[in-house]
Amino acid sequence: MHEHNYWLTTAEFPKIERRPLPARVDVAIIGAGFTGLSAARTLARRGAKVAVLEGETIGWGASSRNGGMVLTGMKLGVNKLISMYGRELTRRMYAASLETIDCVERIIGEEKIECNFSRCGHLEVACKLKHFDDYARQAEVIAREFNHELRVIQKHELSAEIGSNIYYGGMADEISAGLNPARYVSGLGRAAMKAGAEIFEHTSVQAAERERSQGDAGWKVTTSRGQLWAHEVFVATSGYTGTATPVLRKKIIPIGSFIITTEVLAEGLARELNPRNRMIYDSKNYLYYYRLTPDRRMLFGGRAAFFPENDQTIRRSAEILRRGMIDVYPQLRNMKIDYVWGGTLDFAFDIMPHAGQINGMYYALGYAGHGVAMATYQGQKIAELIAGDKPENPFIGIPFPGAPLGLYNGKPWFLPFAGAWYKFLDWVS
Ligand SMILES: Cc1cc2nc3c(=O)[nH]c(=O)nc-3n(C[C@H](O)[C@H](O)[C@H](O)COP(=O)(O)OP(=O)(O)OC[C@H]3O[C@@H](n4cnc5c(N)ncnc54)[C@H](O)[C@@H]3O)c2cc1C
Repeated sequence: MHEHNYWLTTAEFPKIERRPLPARVDVAIIGAGFTGLSAARTLARRGAKVAVLEGETIGWGASSRNGGMVLTGMKLGVNKLISMYGRELTRRMYAASLETIDCVERIIGEEKIECNFSRCGHLEVACKLKHFDDYARQAEVIAREFNHELRVIQKHELSAEIGSNIYYGGMADEISAGLNPARYVSGLGRAAMKAGAEIFEHTSVQAAERERSQGDAGWKVTTSRGQLWAHEVFVATSGYTGTATPVLRKKIIPIGSFIITTEVLAEGLARELNPRNRMIYDSKNYLYYYRLTPDRRMLFGGRAAFFPENDQTIRRSAEILRRGMIDVYPQLRNMKIDYVWGGTLDFAFDIMPHAGQINGMYYALGYAGHGVAMATYQGQKIAELIAGDKPENPFIGIPFPGAPLGLYNGKPWFLPFAGAWYKFLDWVS
């Protein structure tokens, strides 16, 4: 078994020469994942001089490590959203969540990114009868309020969707899609460069401070490779948000998520496990998500350890996830696990995506495991805002809560408790 991200074995990344930093740019973007690269592409196409500053390499963060599920909706259910934001704003948010997928598809088409994008739909499966009962209610609200059809699937019909009999039923959404995230983020990087953005790898931002230059208000950005001046700064660091942007760091909880992939499966077995090639996840808080890769491996992920990835959490996760996978699919009992890896998710305290400006800096983050489409979309929308447009973006300006009682300085000491709490909730609810 390789402790290595399987997707990286399938993708080629652009080779970027090490060049000196420019003295002055219109926009400095921190982070070269979906958010930062989508923003860089949009801004550069509008004629802005853009520097993407990435501490590691293109796509090094969650953007190359994820399940490649391009999902409708948000992490929170619609009833919860309506109770938090009211009908009108929730309607706009839901419409935006559908638009995020069109946004990904449009970019892939325009840039001819070969990343196995396919509108194969997603399937949520119910781990308890009461979860299944709730599907009909959710589908009804979504059809009535948002004019979007979800299909509720009874237990006896489920074998057409999944080769597992442990679930109480499911709910399918045909609009969702799947892709190869490493190929996608690499393609976005190429597209941003083709548009004229410059990407600086191994360039870690240490601080950004207000500074005027030649009469303009802007930012002095200090990096591991020297300084530059930027008219605007866009923070696109997601679960890897660190001390360079302390205000945002305090608002984001970094949570580990881990994935295993099996060896390549025989065609018949792959079809039996996932006949419609769906992106699948279950109804628990501590959920599993899984799909087939384009070369027919089972990719199986979950929050096996709450702490972000390191050698220990990755190794431990491999065994926990293998057991979880066999509970779902006993057919895979004798299959070899070829790869295991982990990455860091970014959760805001209200489990919502957030975007806009904080202390004058632009940002978009808080995707809570729904970032493939939303990060691409937010990157583009915030770029349009910086360029002077007034784009529709219902996530701007919603309250962005910090920790209760301010009990968080960016070091998530409470994760073991949160992990235990979510396991408890799964047990009782
Ligand atoms: C294991 C896993 C599975 C997931 N599965 C799915 C899925 O199936 N579907 C889905 O929709 N979402 C999924 N997600 C979430 C999704 O991958 C993320 O929401 C999305 O990739 C976030 O993109 P981003 O560009 O905002 O951040 P990232 O891709 O994390 O990029 C942030 C970048 O910022 C850089 N950075 C941080 N600080 C600095 C600094 N000071 N200076 C310079 N650079 C810096 C980091 O090196 C990193 O490359 C998953 C995430 C993980 C970890």
